[in-house]
Amino acid sequence: MSKYRKKIIAGNWKMNKLVSESVSLADGIKRELAECRDVDIVLCPTFIALKAVSDVVDNTSIRLGAQNMHWEISGAYTGEISPTMLRDVFCQYVILGHSERRGYFNETDDNVNKKAKVAIESRMTPIVCVGETLDERDAGDAERIVRKQVELSLADMGEGLSKVVVAYEPVWAIGTGRTATPEQAQDMHAFIRKVIAEMGGQEVSETIRIQYGGSMKPENAKELLAQPDIDGGLIGGAALEARQFVKIVTAAIPE
Ligand code: PEP
Repeated sequence: MSKYRKKIIAGNWKMNKLVSESVSLADGIKRELAECRDVDIVLCPTFIALKAVSDVVDNTSIRLGAQNMHWEISGAYTGEISPTMLRDVFCQYVILGHSERRGYFNETDDNVNKKAKVAIESRMTPIVCVGETLDERDAGDAERIVRKQVELSLADMGEGLSKVVVAYEPVWAIGTGRTATPEQAQDMHAFIRKVIAEMGGQEVSETIRIQYGGSMKPENAKELLAQPDIDGGLIGGAALEARQFVKIVTAAIPE
């Protein structure tokens, strides 16, 4: 029998919303989901809104996440934010290696790996993003690319590996309105689980949660989340509106 994995829905607000707008959005989500314990819910605002959103979700089951961090605890790294700073505002999750960071800011698998290890040491859950571009998929290269990202980004994590959340986000589906079909997503999720089993063994591969990300919205969430290897969603555009985000979380609640 396959292992029960609690679904996790995270909202990646990217570089959107002023602090006051972030508070309103978090408030709207809290009104509906403050007591929801059937799904892990994570809100990832911009760095400067973290403290304010942290205050809004305090004493609820909603958790806070950041969109990136540095791997050092402190030091001369102008413009960076450390794991200790994130913990200080009660962040429990951090998105790492998002394709926008890989594409626009030269984030490498090696950097993601350093950050993922430090996140675990700092008692935060890293949400490690992987995914192929359209050219890579069309060239029949998707599995090779995703395998490489998983193997390098999650290398040498020891016991920490089972605590990571992986987000499979085909780059061609992010912010494009074009979603992977449930079959395409399921196939890649099963493949990622196989790679994790090779790296950390069967038990770890059955424990680790793999989210799908890429134009997930209320209309397609249920079908995607019903796939056996899809354990949640990393949501961009649809996370910027409380009603849409709440609908996606509702679609993840087990029947
Ligand atoms: C994302 O950026 O992680 C994402 C999935 O965005 P969207 O839902 O807008 O495609």
